[in-house]
Amino acid sequence: MAMRIGLKPCEWERDGADLIVVCDPSRSVQLDDPDGQVERLLAALRDHPGTVAQLRAALAADGLEVGVDEVSGALSALDGLRMLRDVGRPVDRERAGRSFSNLAFFELYSSLEVNEADLQQRVRDAHVLQLGTGGLGSNVLQNLAGLGVGRLTLLDNDDVEPKNLARQFVYREADLGSSKVHRAAGWVRAFHSDIEVRALRRWVGGPADVTDLLPGVDLVVSGIDQGERIDNWVNEACVRAGVPWIRGGMTGSQLIYFSVDPGRSACYECRVHAYGDGRAIASSVLPPAAVTAQRLSARIPRVNQANGPSAALIGSLVAFEALRYLTDYEPPYAAGAEVLVDISGGCAQRREPWPRDQDCDVCAGAWAARAAGKPA
Ligand SMILES: [Zn+2]
Repeated sequence: MAMRIGLKPCEWERDGADLIVVCDPSRSVQLDDPDGQVERLLAALRDHPGTVAQLRAALAADGLEVGVDEVSGALSALDGLRMLRDVGRPVDRERAGRSFSNLAFFELYSSLEVNEADLQQRVRDAHVLQLGTGGLGSNVLQNLAGLGVGRLTLLDNDDVEPKNLARQFVYREADLGSSKVHRAAGWVRAFHSDIEVRALRRWVGGPADVTDLLPGVDLVVSGIDQGERIDNWVNEACVRAGVPWIRGGMTGSQLIYFSVDPGRSACYECRVHAYGDGRAIASSVLPPAAVTAQRLSARIPRVNQANGPSAALIGSLVAFEALRYLTDYEPPYAAGAEVLVDISGGCAQRREPWPRDQDCDVCAGAWAARAAGKPA
């Protein structure tokens, strides 16, 4: 059966030869429409949603004769602007219970091909491995559970301490002295009983410990503070298995996250080859004084100075990146790039990509596999 096409809630107004159209307050589009054909198509979509043939008939009744190809081309352009919906597959948010807000969010990004319910289903079908349930992890966890991720595997080896209560809100006073990962899993079960959650009380001793956990996993989120090599290990395991991973952290008044999309972005090892190890902020365009400042800042003992709002903010940014990977509602923002948030600058963000190393022995296989059209 032919798809029945309609318009998402939109408003428009003519400005000379242009049409200003708004479906989302943060995105307005200006369409070139000297002869008023686009405006008549928008009106037909709003008033007479239907198949291409029905839309052509509505336009003809309005005195505008247009060919199938012309209408199809215009519809595909409007769909690219995320303005259309398939009215034959209505999504009833009111009956969606706890998914209501997720579906409302997805409406901003849905298309004729992939609607809100499809995007929500991708989240439900996903399995996320989360390394660390501390400052970053516990905040990411609450967001992943609210988004409705179907399966979660959590790993951590700490116990809940009083100091955690300032910024790790899955834990309560009654949890003090208990295993963090088991309490975090308990929080998930109480919050959303349909989520399948597995708790692993341990640390990671090398890439193989991560590799063992990757079968069936769609995405890894790491907020683990454990030794110098942990990011190299997670990177090696994930890139070789073709599983994307996201790292989030906090140093001083700066929040940082990045992600690695195997075979599509530079990997963490490429970054190490380019800039050296450690968490110093790297950039090829920094003035010499800033490079010196970086070198000095790398010498300062790393102390995690994040409070609740900082941990919640970086947790949210990482959860957004996770949602990009899980649903493809938009491309990953931090693939092969550090995103830095300066707490003291009103939380302004900047993005610093790092170069791919063509000779990187960790990600070469992933690039080759992607080029050959196979999963890594
Ligand atoms: Zn690499």
